[in-house]
Amino acid sequence: MNLANMPASFNPKPGRVLVTGAAGFLGSHLTDALLAIGHEVTGVDSLITGSKDNIAHLASNNRFKFVHADLCQPLPSDIANAKFDRIFHLASPASPVGYVKHQVVTLKINSLATMNLLELAERTGARIFMASTSECYGDPLEHPQKETYWGHVNPNGMRSMYDEAKRFMEAAAMAYHRERNVDTRLVRIFNTYGPRLALDDGRVVPAFIKQALTHQPMTVQGDGSQTRSLCYVDDEIRGFLLLMECPDYHLPVNIGNPDEVTVLHLAHEIRELANSRSIITHLPLPPDDPKQRCPDIALAKKLLDWQPTIARRQGLEKTVAFYRQKLGL
Ligand code: UDP
Repeated sequence: MNLANMPASFNPKPGRVLVTGAAGFLGSHLTDALLAIGHEVTGVDSLITGSKDNIAHLASNNRFKFVHADLCQPLPSDIANAKFDRIFHLASPASPVGYVKHQVVTLKINSLATMNLLELAERTGARIFMASTSECYGDPLEHPQKETYWGHVNPNGMRSMYDEAKRFMEAAAMAYHRERNVDTRLVRIFNTYGPRLALDDGRVVPAFIKQALTHQPMTVQGDGSQTRSLCYVDDEIRGFLLLMECPDYHLPVNIGNPDEVTVLHLAHEIRELANSRSIITHLPLPPDDPKQRCPDIALAKKLLDWQPTIARRQGLEKTVAFYRQKLGL
């Protein structure tokens, strides 16, 4: 991410930052940006869905420390006894395939670990940022989704371990803020893509790119008329940094790109960008797959002066180039 794109008013004092999920897709990009700002970063990850490859380039950075720990257990002593200025809690399986594979971990990391980190923030006076999700809106009946929409979530369906855990996280953040004055921030993340997304985690962008680059059939689930709105990772991370430093706002803020596209259209677009000979095939739609998703970002614009700057085509080109190189093609 290019820090030159941050507004001149963004000028945080370098300090000590904890990033949970630092070896994940968003966590590793965020860690890079925090180090570029001048912070000292402790990154923690259980590596169940994250990968050390994502942070290998930081091995010799003396402002970065990696802690391999499972935050579903009590906090390790080097985190529990440390004083951080800022805590970003991003650790969680985040793809539908990932959270269905790790259902109990998903519930625990977003509840037990969230509570432990909120306690740490309360004890040490750290500001804490928590990664919530557009999945709080479920299969939405309101479109586009504003932060004020309460959502349409199946409480015991195939996404419930993620959706309900993130809704719990939001309730926990607000309770610790309202009752104990913890300085919380809540982001609702919409579909984000870019380099370092795990190629095999089932998410639509890496799945289509891998299939297209290897000329395998591209697996559109259902008829492909369901929509998603894709945000390039650099825009998303810029939104995180601005929200963390925004004074005194504690309710959730949507950070996502409102450029909505059907899954079928996306398949054709990636096929063309990758110069692929893949055919497009259709698989059954997984249960509770939301039919449409698009953020209303009026709040982020007003509060943070944030909006995405990277068009889908430009972001997909960069992402295809990354995977082409990764796959040695
Ligand atoms: N999808 C698809 N083929 C794939 C993977 C995903 O058609 O190989 C669809 C999926 O059914 C959903 C959309 O793409 O409608 C986005 O799926 P993803 O797993 O990326 O995340 P979600 O937005 O559902 O959390």
